[in-house]
Amino acid sequence: MPSPFCPGCGNGIITNAFLRAVRELGHYSLEGFAFVSGIGCGAWIPSPHFNADTLHTTHGRAIAFATGLKLARPELKVVVISGDGDLAGIGGNHLIHAARRNVDMTVICSNNYNYAMTGGQVSPTTFTRDTTSTSPYGNPERPFDLARLVAAAGANYVARWTTAHPIQASRAMKTALTRRGFTFIEMLSQCPTAYGRRAKVGDARAFIDWFKKLPVRKKDDPVGHHVPTHDTMDLGVFVDRDEPGLLEQIDMIVRRGGDHN
Ligand code: SF4
Repeated sequence: MPSPFCPGCGNGIITNAFLRAVRELGHYSLEGFAFVSGIGCGAWIPSPHFNADTLHTTHGRAIAFATGLKLARPELKVVVISGDGDLAGIGGNHLIHAARRNVDMTVICSNNYNYAMTGGQVSPTTFTRDTTSTSPYGNPERPFDLARLVAAAGANYVARWTTAHPIQASRAMKTALTRRGFTFIEMLSQCPTAYGRRAKVGDARAFIDWFKKLPVRKKDDPVGHHVPTHDTMDLGVFVDRDEPGLLEQIDMIVRRGGDHN
């Protein structure tokens, strides 16, 4: 099938890792899933690639649409797949509040450090000093550490892997898909076209070499505060807890019928 992705793009690996997770969970179709995405290259992963119910929404609003969808159709497994600019830039407010509310959904963020589809502009995950189309002399800002941000905001499960770690990513996606509450997988992904050239990282191979050198967290490593750099994006699980999601909280209140004692 034709793909909208450039040669060497990491989004194909993320697609593959996700579908492998779904298959290993015993699903032979995507019936019962509903996919929501915003605008950007990562948003093209479910729509048009998946033979499933998909909502391709406005820029930054995927999680808002997904929240409404989950509340209206709680029996559906709602999965948001989109990019860093869409989810953490334009949609950043929705991201942190969905994590805080522990809304029952899985969010997969293809983080390629820039707004790739719209021309390679600085995004909230672009590293300090990186050159992009809107920072030709270097980015003066600090990036978000998305995994830590979402973990601190209250998500039940958060993991970060890369396109050089498809097996680990797939395992994390399986865990995320089987948990209640808000679950988040950050996938570091190569964008040789819009980011790789301007930031002088290079081609897809250079990204994979970079990702393979990133440190993997130990189970008891403190999450702590961290300003990510090219060399210090640590990988692995950041939080794994089992607290009631928003739907259960609403259900408990409805069952109590206004009895506050
Ligand atoms: S611009 Fe970058 S992220 Fe978008 S499809 Fe091309 S390589 Fe992938």
